[in-house]
Amino acid sequence: MRRAVCPGSFDPIHKGHIEIIARATRLFDEVVVAVSTNYSKQYRFEESERIEMARQTLSSIAGITVRPMGDGLLADFCRDVGADAIIKGLRNSTDFQYEAPMATMNRHLTGVETVFLIADSHYAHISSSLLKEVAALGGDVSDYVPRAVIQRFES
Ligand code: ADP
Repeated sequence: MRRAVCPGSFDPIHKGHIEIIARATRLFDEVVVAVSTNYSKQYRFEESERIEMARQTLSSIAGITVRPMGDGLLADFCRDVGADAIIKGLRNSTDFQYEAPMATMNRHLTGVETVFLIADSHYAHISSSLLKEVAALGGDVSDYVPRAVIQRFES
């Protein structure tokens, strides 16, 4: 049983995330989507809503569970759930520069490896923050977010 963790704050989940998570299910038997909350940060959506949107969206793909990660170390979460790997999507060299030291630190802390998947070109330009900004100003983000998110942006 090979298990991977896809971590993020998913504020909100978008199609770039979903594409990476779906590809991860083809490499691992189980993918745990770990929804993190850093209590010093401001989020657009409550943790419970971020989890709910991820669950609603990902329920049609087999092999995925969505769990809160809390604000502890990702390395500890991976050890607790028995994960062999962390999956990260890379959009560009900025993502790489940010992620590379974290991957090395996580391997140092618990031996967990990080597997990088290159973002699909259709979604490499999107981030949750950009989508929130566009949606707040009335722009149409429906090509980039699942239905569960559109409903919440509208409400
Ligand atoms: P954060 O941990 O900064 O809150 P996010 O919740 O936005 O991150 O994203 C979680 C992870 O999803 C990121 O670490 C990154 O690996 C991946 N990701 C984010 N946006 C994209 C995208 N457009 N395409 C592919 N992967 C992405």
